[in-house]
Amino acid sequence: MKLLEIKELSVEYVTPLGVIRALERVNLGVERGEFLGVVGESGSGKSTLGYAIIRLLPQNARVSGKILFEGFDILSAKEEQIRKIRGKSITMVFQDPFTSLNPLFKVGEQITRPLEVHYAMSKRDAQQKMKHFLSLVGLSDYVLSCYPFELSGGTQQRLMLAMALSTAPSLIIADEPTSSVDASIQAQILRILLEIKKKTSFSMILITHNIEVASSVCDKLCVMYAGRLVEFGSTKHVLSDPKHPYTQALLSCIPRPRESKTQTKKLSAISGNPPDPFNTPTGCKFHPRCSHAWKLCGEEEPKESVVGERRVLCHLYNG
Ligand code: ATP
Ligand code: SF4
Repeated sequence: MKLLEIKELSVEYVTPLGVIRALERVNLGVERGEFLGVVGESGSGKSTLGYAIIRLLPQNARVSGKILFEGFDILSAKEEQIRKIRGKSITMVFQDPFTSLNPLFKVGEQITRPLEVHYAMSKRDAQQKMKHFLSLVGLSDYVLSCYPFELSGGTQQRLMLAMALSTAPSLIIADEPTSSVDASIQAQILRILLEIKKKTSFSMILITHNIEVASSVCDKLCVMYAGRLVEFGSTKHVLSDPKHPYTQALLSCIPRPRESKTQTKKLSAISGNPPDPFNTPTGCKFHPRCSHAWKLCGEEEPKESVVGERRVLCHLYNG
């Protein structure tokens, strides 16, 4: 059994201006110990997917489909059952550590809460246990006696990671964990993730707009566009031979060092803008920006095709 199985997941947000289809019939699975990168532009539905799994969607969300975590049906479970899983078996690292830590309390008062709540530990025991996870993310226990504002953004993000690891979860959902830090701290956090991956057995869903970040630590990639999963496969295959025109376009936007001084490399950008969520294009949602588009693309939504070990949502592969 897969650790996580998502079947035909759709999420709509009901707003005064209309309905936004944030996710449309998404199917994916995560194996134990596997790192899955969820990538795509802003508004493609990445965070909605993460919040749906941990059942933290806002009240204006309408959800259908199935999310099975270790066989357990997340969407139809009672709130008290979910509270036993959320923060213990499934933990989350949010984009902005500043909003996750209360500035009025010392770090040691806050980051041990999951251990106190889920394992009924005393604060003293929890702080003792926390030292191990702090060392895993390269921090000394000195940080426990600090207020959040005394620590840099990178240190705070590492604290969030230590907290997410502390309950020995099966799944960590990390939503843009490196987007609020500079490039060197980003590299440091990615290095820590890779080291921890070798030592522990949890799975991770890494949500990021940066396909380079995802591919540096993830085993598989799931590429999202306008709420659709447009390409899903192993990182190696997706990077070496991207099938979907949107994945190809995303990869062509990555700046690469020149191989020689005389060689110049034109940096591409994806033409056009992400679709208006209240008025998405007919047919394939990517067709107004796709250089391969033909008449059918604007008329009919493509069906998912299996190409080798890949799943691709594009008419080019519909035979
Ligand atoms: P970003 O990278 O900017 O966080 P994302 O890929 O994570 O984007 P989501 O945040 O999941 O995308 O949003 C998907 C769509 O749902 C967007 O059009 C967004 O505006 C809309 N949306 C998200 N949350 C809500 C909400 N609470 N109410 C209404 N619409 C929402
Ligand atoms: Fe491009 Fe058509 Fe494929 Fe959409 S279905 S990605 S428009 S070729």
